Amino acid sequence: MASRTGPSQTTIDTAEFARRGANLMGVVALREFDRMRDLLAGEHGELRWELRGERRARHEGGHDDYLELSLEGTAQLACVRCLRPVTVELRERRLYRLFATESQALREDAEVDEHDALVGSARFDALALLEDEAILALPIAPRHPKCALAGDAGARDAASADPAAPRENPFAVLARIRGGGKEG
Ligand SMILES: [Zn+2]
Repeated sequence: MASRTGPSQTTIDTAEFARRGANLMGVVALREFDRMRDLLAGEHGELRWELRGERRARHEGGHDDYLELSLEGTAQLACVRCLRPVTVELRERRLYRLFATESQALREDAEVDEHDALVGSARFDALALLEDEAILALPIAPRHPKCALAGDAGARDAASADPAAPRENPFAVLARIRGGGKEG
C-alpha cells in the first residue's frame, strides 16, 4: 500500500527511538491514507513529515521519552460554499510525552498543556500517528478565499475556521473518527 516507504521503516520502538534521539522523515501522498482519503475532494496533496525522538533526564533520576512530529503539506477539500475542491495548507508540530499505558496517558493529557500524551510501543506505527494528526489539522470549514458563491454567510464560515479557536481534545476527535469507522 504505502509504496514509497515500507511498513518496517515506519514502525518504530518508541523507547529505543527516543533513547537514540532518532529521526525519521518522508513524503506521503494523502490518498494513501485510508481514513484521510474519505475526507478529500481531490487526488492531489501530500505531506512532508518528520518524527524526532528525545529522551530527557529527570532531576530526581530516571527519564522521560518524547516524540516530536512535524508535518507540512497541502490537501484538497470540498469548499463549504460551492463544494468544489479547494487546496488548503496543513502545518502542524506536536510534542508528545510517551507513557506505558493508556490510563497514564489519559491522566497526563488532562493535566499538561505543553505536550500531548501518547502510549508508546515496541511496534509503534508512525504513519498512523501522522494520519491522525493530519486529519486533526484539516480546517473545519474549508472555503475558497474568493469563492464564486461567497455571500454574507461567508464571514460566518470564516469565523468557525479561525485557527486561534480552542483545539478540541484530540482523543475525543479520534474516538469519533474510529467509532464511525470500520469496526468489525
Ligand atoms: Zn468555493
